[in-house]
Amino acid sequence: MLNIALIAHDGKKPEMVSFVMRHKSILEKFEIYATGTTGSFIEKEGFKVNKLLSGPKGGDAQIAALLAEGNMDVVIFFRDALEKHPHEPDVQMLMRLADVHNIPLATNPKTAYYILKGIESAMEDR
Ligand code: PGA
Repeated sequence: MLNIALIAHDGKKPEMVSFVMRHKSILEKFEIYATGTTGSFIEKEGFKVNKLLSGPKGGDAQIAALLAEGNMDVVIFFRDALEKHPHEPDVQMLMRLADVHNIPLATNPKTAYYILKGIESAMEDR
C-alpha cells in the first residue's frame, strides 16, 4: 500500500474535507497520514488516519522526516497562501525535501486530483 500525507492550513481545511469526500474511492487505496487537526477532520469523514502532531507543533516536520526516510509516496498540502504561519520554516523544509527525494506534492485541489489520477492509472498498469 502507498503512503499519502494530507495537510491543510486552517483556511483550507474545508477544501481538504470536500476533496477527501470527492476522492474517497482512490484515497481508500492509500495508508493515510495527516497533521493533527487536519487528521481529525478527515477521520470524521470515516477514514482511518495516522495522525501526527499538529502542524505548528511539528507535524509538517514529522511528515518531512517520513519522506526523507523513504516512507512517503505522495503529499497533498493545501497551503493558505493568504496567511502567515509560525511554522513556515517547516513548510519550506517539507517542500524542499519533496523535491530532493522526487516525491509528488500538490498544493491545490486540481493538482492533487491529477496526481491521484496518475497514481491510480500507474497502479492499474502494474
Ligand atoms: P494541522 O496542521 O493539521 O494540525 O492544523 C497543518 C499545518 O498548519 O501545517
